[in-house]
Amino acid sequence: MNPFERHLQAVLHERRLQHRYRSRPTISSVQGPEMVVEGERYLNFCSNDYLGLASHPELRTAMVDAAQQWGVGSGASHLVCGHSDEHHQLERELAEFCGRERALVFSTGYMANLGAINALVGKGDAVLEDRLNHASLLDAGLLSGARFSRFQHNSLDSLRQQLEHASQKAAKSLVVVDGVFSMDGDLAPLPEQAALVAEHNAWLMVDDAHGFGCLGANGAGVLEHYGLTQRDVPVLMGTLGKAVGSFGAFVAGSDALIETLIQMARSYIYTTALPPAVAAATRQSLRTIKAEPWRREHLHRLIQRFRGGAQALGLQLMDSPTAIQPILIGRDELALHYSQTLRQRGFWVSAIRPPTVPEGSARLRVTLSAAHSDAQVDGLLQALAQVHAELGGSER
Ligand SMILES: *Cc1c(COP(=O)(O)O)cnc(C)c1O
Repeated sequence: MNPFERHLQAVLHERRLQHRYRSRPTISSVQGPEMVVEGERYLNFCSNDYLGLASHPELRTAMVDAAQQWGVGSGASHLVCGHSDEHHQLERELAEFCGRERALVFSTGYMANLGAINALVGKGDAVLEDRLNHASLLDAGLLSGARFSRFQHNSLDSLRQQLEHASQKAAKSLVVVDGVFSMDGDLAPLPEQAALVAEHNAWLMVDDAHGFGCLGANGAGVLEHYGLTQRDVPVLMGTLGKAVGSFGAFVAGSDALIETLIQMARSYIYTTALPPAVAAATRQSLRTIKAEPWRREHLHRLIQRFRGGAQALGLQLMDSPTAIQPILIGRDELALHYSQTLRQRGFWVSAIRPPTVPEGSARLRVTLSAAHSDAQVDGLLQALAQVHAELGGSER
């Protein structure tokens, strides 16, 4: 082995020893509650397709029709010649859906966060983030060159302290939080945070990857849930690959915000536009979300059903009112063991381990979807009861 290979093998070996080695299960079925993974059939409880739209017939048709009309590739970046009518209409419809002046479509949520944060703050500024923020927000903050700090999860005191500190030193301060935390499922206390941020003349940005489509009376997300507007939260980011069931992301806010991003967001400027057919499928998804409110209602009933059942089993749930229902396990190895044992029983639930979550808080991340039936959720609870009886005793 040459030194390059030897080095990589040593790093990989270390990962394995730490039970942190990651692998990619290969799927050979459409997204949905039933999934075929490496030839075996499972009930799927780990997807972010919260409304069951990823394989919806209306979205498929919209995408196929648009591919016939527009072809496959967008051909160029938005600023060159890749910005189609389909993208433009989608941006209008997203803005209207969120009750904001404008929206800008990015290729992924990761890129939307990198682009927005880096366009808004830089050297001499401050960026303050919840310590459980999504990796893309943390990476974006670090990359920006602004003074980067993290406050205690959902703590208003910790945020206040850091805002006071930042307001003395920084030209401007941007506070960035997940609306729904992706590994915990809990909500940020946005009304209180928005008031605190305004008091300190700072700006608030919310990443609503897991709320958009699910929360609020119309599914407009966590800001609709709380009744907050563009004035309270000037920067809203949402993703289109989760509840919306397609692909991509957007930032929504004022006309000035969107123009700023078009001028300055490097991950918007220097990349190829999404295929127009993907934008068309997303447009259909917004129509379907409006036309089928039963999806959100059924999802919320399943969440209650799951929580009631899991609590009765003595499983340690988190403070989550959303489709993300983690079960706290603790040790990495034990979380893996739970996940593997569930798999043997035909249930696909992923184990989430550090560094994705803090040390000692490895968990099963159960996610529910409007496509699940009551019976499927009951089946998972039954399997959890058996696995917990087998494995839970060893820890407690
Ligand atoms: C999934 C996710 C992203 C990234 O979105 P992609 O479109 O998958 O790149 C960003 N933020 C949060 C909170 C997410 O959960």
